[in-house]
Amino acid sequence: MHIKLTTGFILFLFSLASCSPKPYSATNKVYAKQTKAFAKKITVTPTNLIIADSLKSPMYPAYTTNFGMRKPNIVVLHYTAQNSCEQTLQTFTKPATQVSAHYVICKDGTLHHMLNDYLRAWHAGAGKWGNNNDVNSSSIGIEIDNNGLDSFSTAQINTLVGVLLFLKKEYNIPAENFIGHSDVAPARKIDPGLLFPWKALSEKGFGWWYDDTTGVNVPVDFNIKYALKIIGYDVKNIPNAIGAFKRHFLNTANDLLFTKPEEKILYAVMLKYLN
Ligand SMILES: [Zn+2]
Repeated sequence: MHIKLTTGFILFLFSLASCSPKPYSATNKVYAKQTKAFAKKITVTPTNLIIADSLKSPMYPAYTTNFGMRKPNIVVLHYTAQNSCEQTLQTFTKPATQVSAHYVICKDGTLHHMLNDYLRAWHAGAGKWGNNNDVNSSSIGIEIDNNGLDSFSTAQINTLVGVLLFLKKEYNIPAENFIGHSDVAPARKIDPGLLFPWKALSEKGFGWWYDDTTGVNVPVDFNIKYALKIIGYDVKNIPNAIGAFKRHFLNTANDLLFTKPEEKILYAVMLKYLN
């Protein structure tokens, strides 16, 4: 069959290409190249560190037989603050943005696994949880498609729970290490926001929640700063840490001091982290 290549036909071909079901084939090739380079890096045998001039080199190499892969131990939940899943996929495949996540969950529950769990995504940025000030190196980042104003869809939460169940089992991640971006970066971030269902997730074993505080007696010498620190917050700026705690456990946005009932909740959460 002979096809005449008219301008119209060429434009038609272009339009087909732009509707291609594989719009990320070029960046997927970049992914493959980069992972290949990392794979090569970890097959290199250990080299001696130059510790001091007096360091003696061994006569023969001796590599251990006993090792595994370093595993993620924290899961950080985000909302994308963008308008669609597609917009987020594009953001995470443009080198100039320097941001990424392991998983993206669309509104209809579709799951995009964008990066192997053993590799380091760039999702947490500058932040701290406990004494860990390189959260990206030890965490999985999950971005949920949400503009920051809308509720999360049931389909999204169902997919999220499925992913969290897998991660918890696969990497043995403790319940308290399922946290939000706002928790690790209280000065910069507010996601996953006030509408995120932390309580419901904690009932499934992801993140901690407090028990009924009716009978709780807060000690007279209770120290808010120490309590926030024990939970994991960076207390360099206390109002920021209070704001993050309130977003997560009280679904309120103010960063003022605690009321007496709120103080009870802080104390009750702290006890969870102490036990
Ligand atoms: Zn975030």
